[in-house]
This record gives sequence, C-alpha cells and structure tokens, in this order.
Amino acid sequence: MIYTYTCPKCGDFAHNCTLSAYKPSVKCPSCKKMAERNLMADCESIISVVDATPKTLGSVADRNSDRRSVDERHDTFMKHNAYRFKKPNLPKGMEPLNRPGIDT
Ligand SMILES: [Zn+2]
Repeated sequence: MIYTYTCPKCGDFAHNCTLSAYKPSVKCPSCKKMAERNLMADCESIISVVDATPKTLGSVADRNSDRRSVDERHDTFMKHNAYRFKKPNLPKGMEPLNRPGIDT
C-alpha cells in the first residue's frame, strides 16, 4: 500500500509499506523529522476514482426524469393517466361509481 504522509518541513510524500508494517507516523526521507499520515490526501485520491454514475434502473429513471422539463413530464403524466379522465363506456342508464378523492 502507498500512504501519504505530511512532513511539517518538506510537505507531502508517498510512503510504500505493507499493511502489517503500517505506522501512523514515519520519518521523513529528506529531513528525518517525524511525518504524520495525511488521511485526507489518501481519501481524495480514492474518491476521485469512484464512479458516481447511477447503478440501478430506478436511479437511472430518476436521473432521466430530472433532466426533463415540466411540460415533458406533464405530457407523459397525461399520456399514462388518460384513462383516469375518460368517461367509461357504460350501458344506457348506468352511471360510474363516484370514487371519493379521485372523481371529486
Ligand atoms: Zn521532511
């Protein structure tokens, strides 16, 4: 593993060691002062490698939906819900049931 350490005099340097030989502080190779592990530098290098694109179908759909305009979303909603606003084709003399909260 390569770890990043910060020397108070020389700045950041990379230190290569095994996991079992890891120490939170090592001697600086230039000035021999004790240098502390720089966790933030190592975290930033890991984060930059992580791919943040969506991985599930639902998250892709949400992302694509967010990219559409309000008008486009309204058109799709009306297309998918047209049956809700259409009068049902019933025999003469019959009335559709009144569904509270939907038809009112
Ligand atoms: Zn140093």
